[in-house]
Amino acid sequence: MRVAVFPGSFDPITRGHQDIILRALPLFDKIIIAVGVNANKNYMFSLDDRIGFIKKAFEGNSKIEATHFKGLTVDFCKEKGANFILRGLRNPADFEFEKAIAHVNHTMEESIDTLFFLTSPEYAAISSSIIRDIYRNNGDVRPFIPQGVDIGTDK
Ligand code: ADP
Repeated sequence: MRVAVFPGSFDPITRGHQDIILRALPLFDKIIIAVGVNANKNYMFSLDDRIGFIKKAFEGNSKIEATHFKGLTVDFCKEKGANFILRGLRNPADFEFEKAIAHVNHTMEESIDTLFFLTSPEYAAISSSIIRDIYRNNGDVRPFIPQGVDIGTDK
């Protein structure tokens, strides 16, 4: 089984994330979208909501799972039998940040490699933080989140 883990905050999942996952899917038997639980981070949406949005975005797609994990991404990958970590790149800042994490992860666990997909140009400007800003200010977030996902209006 070729398994990849796509770790992230997904606060909330965006069309940019969805695009990366769907483009990587032909390479794998399974992609596990794993919401990392970090006690030092303040999230806008609850863990259950974030996982729920992901499940809704990929409803009916049996190759995609959504769950959460605590601790090191490489430990979670080993537990799941995944040899690849999937991440997306939008710009040089993402690249520099992701490069450092990928190097450290590879040093910790040689059998695990990080696979990067470049964002599709139409999604390059989308980030969860911009979506949170629009949401907070009562704007319409629908063009930026996967179709069919309703993140509600409760703040
Ligand atoms: P984290 O808090 O771990 O950065 P995010 O949910 O913000 O979690 O992002 C997860 C991954 O998705 C990162 O690799 C990020 O670069 C990538 N990503 C975020 N937005 C986009 C986008 N619009 N296009 C492509 N990749 C993206």
